[in-house]
Amino acid sequence: MGHLCVLDIQHGLAPGKPDSKGAKAPTGQWERDLTRHYAITAATELLAAGWDVEVWPHRPTTYAERHAEVLRLAGARLGRTVYVACHFDSAPWSYGAAYYDGRSKRGHELAEHLADALGQLPELSSGRAVPSWRAARPGEPTTDDGLHWTSRTQACIAGAWSPADAVEAVTLEPACLGQARHQPLWSTLEGLGRLGVALAKGIRAGG
Ligand SMILES: [Zn+2]
Repeated sequence: MGHLCVLDIQHGLAPGKPDSKGAKAPTGQWERDLTRHYAITAATELLAAGWDVEVWPHRPTTYAERHAEVLRLAGARLGRTVYVACHFDSAPWSYGAAYYDGRSKRGHELAEHLADALGQLPELSSGRAVPSWRAARPGEPTTDDGLHWTSRTQACIAGAWSPADAVEAVTLEPACLGQARHQPLWSTLEGLGRLGVALAKGIRAGG
């Protein structure tokens, strides 16, 4: 098979920069300490399915250096290379989203598969007119349905794109630390595990 998934626990430890731990949950936990749990579950699922997996926690490197490394890894294999910049969102009005590079067909396809898989979790499904979980396109305007795109989010994956589109890269914000409806997904190991299983399912759906 030869597929590789890199799960990058982002926030902090860029050389010379303060160690931002990302957003703080209402319960006092830091974003990166919660993302680690869904990443590890996804890694376990993918390993069981025969994938190669790397989890990159707290790397003392810049995002650009990590993106260069994932491109190097992709160049050395025939199968897929998936790169997930692991986050949680914190805005109480926001929904989960996967952000992809607008130039990347493969990143777009991965984001859509993730939207399908994660949107099936009861906390992330919606009775509202707009989908609660979806792939968000770079450049989409900020709207009150929670779609947004910021330069900071783009920086999470921007360097993983190449003209050959060798890496399927997304910034993943599977749920929101500030949204009460999502709380079971990030405040319990059971919920974090369900996020990880859904993440692995979405990744594998890409073929
Ligand atoms: Zn974040």
